[in-house]
Amino acid sequence: MVKRDVAINILRETLSRRHLVGAGTAVATAAALAPTTVFGQSRQTIMTGEANSSAADMGPENNAMKSINADGFMPPPTDHGSVPQFWHSFSAVHRRVQDGGWARQVNVEDFPISTEIAGVNMKLNAGGIRELHWHAANEWSLMLSGNCRLTAIDLDGKSYVADVAQGDLWYFPTGIPHSLQGLGPEGCEFLLVFDDGRFSEDNTTLISDWAIHTPPEVLAKNWNAPQSALEPLRSIPREGKYIFQAPVPGSLASDQQAAANGRPATPIKFQFAMQGMPPTKSGRNGEVRIVDSTNFPISTNIAMAHVRLKPGGLRELHWHPNADEWQYYLQGSGRMTLFHNKSEASTADFNPGDVGYVPKTLGHYIENTGTDDLVFLEMFKAPKYEDLSLNDWMTHIPPELVMQHLGISAETLGNIPKANLAVLPA
Ligand code: MN
Ligand code: MN
Repeated sequence: MVKRDVAINILRETLSRRHLVGAGTAVATAAALAPTTVFGQSRQTIMTGEANSSAADMGPENNAMKSINADGFMPPPTDHGSVPQFWHSFSAVHRRVQDGGWARQVNVEDFPISTEIAGVNMKLNAGGIRELHWHAANEWSLMLSGNCRLTAIDLDGKSYVADVAQGDLWYFPTGIPHSLQGLGPEGCEFLLVFDDGRFSEDNTTLISDWAIHTPPEVLAKNWNAPQSALEPLRSIPREGKYIFQAPVPGSLASDQQAAANGRPATPIKFQFAMQGMPPTKSGRNGEVRIVDSTNFPISTNIAMAHVRLKPGGLRELHWHPNADEWQYYLQGSGRMTLFHNKSEASTADFNPGDVGYVPKTLGHYIENTGTDDLVFLEMFKAPKYEDLSLNDWMTHIPPELVMQHLGISAETLGNIPKANLAVLPA
């Protein structure tokens, strides 16, 4: 087969893949009509002319990347213009691996659109410690797998020690000192979200780093100790410990009692059992759980929607009035088109470990393009989750006004769901 034919076959496969997506649903019916309902007239030839060679690709190709970027390689004809890159992936970044675990991050340094949020993915062995530290950003987390022990103190010096498991959240406000330690049998892996795109996991205040960069005579005075008692600090690496291996800690009750040290424990709940909560919204094609400062009071500046879409399900066309959206994909495969105003739109594909970003107020949808459930997080630097639904808006203004804009019939308008359902078809 000559290269040109290979290219045309790839194009055919791409097109037929689109028609297969969501087969048997109302969405699929619309997709099957695509060639006659394309809006971008100048690109229609690419969609309809199977022998058309315009999209042929004869040069070098990273086929692994291409296969996960079908909507970038062969964009829907409604895509147009140059939208800033809004896809990234933890699988594409460097890992900092140390004895005890590892960490990797996606922040504004290599994902320029992500100005409001930075994300860190971390694993700790059983006994592995993310060292005692604090930082300038607020920290929100979702436990992805395994078990972990958290410690902190509140502003009154009252202690906090708690164990978290898969599906649990935690939140440590700016400046609150804390630690994380993996528990048996397999340690843990979690996602951390910070409300500052410039946050770097490599720039936090570490207890060991501070100690070895303080004159020993000062430290001795501060700790009421002879300088000879500080000899063990000589073995601390110049940049601090950060992540290191230690024995698995004892029982939670004994750690809590020892940490309290004569004071009552903090009344603040720094953790939240997200997995146990009923869905905030649910329908036959999925469900949404919303956690923000209204049901998780300590989380004063980070809001979350945890979304599950069944195959063929659509997170409906919507936007957020109060903050940028940072997405993390946990399971399945999907696509999102980001409408960037000024006739600009771009579609990208998302897989587990990927990150997406939507600037405040810009319209978007997320569609499950796979055969499994698509599960993802929508994260916001905001005290409260807020969204507006295109359907809810269109059905709660004078109908004539809508019909005059779009030219659609009263019947078509009448069939549009009259609520913000989040997940469609309802
Ligand atoms: Mn932290
Ligand atoms: Mn959204």
